[in-house]
Amino acid sequence: MGYRSREKKRQAKAAIARVKRDHHDTMRTRYYLTFAKKGCRCSSCGRRLRVNDQLVYRHDGPVTLCLPCGEADPLVDYRISLRWEKQRWRERRAA
Ligand SMILES: [Zn+2]
Repeated sequence: MGYRSREKKRQAKAAIARVKRDHHDTMRTRYYLTFAKKGCRCSSCGRRLRVNDQLVYRHDGPVTLCLPCGEADPLVDYRISLRWEKQRWRERRAA
């Protein structure tokens, strides 16, 4: 890897860190569609969520919702997480 691409990578990383810092409070209170990192329960219906199940997550709380609950709740306006997009992209490539 040349100096240029390394530098680019470093700048990209710094930019992401900056955005994360600036939007930390927003990100905490926002809902994201992601995958369960570990087993947990839906905060609303109590359904068991297993590792890699899709879930709607908010850091503040924290709140973990199964997809049906996340979609049914009008207060939950979730967005797609980077993690979710990456996973989708991998699945599409494998198919
Ligand atoms: Zn639920």
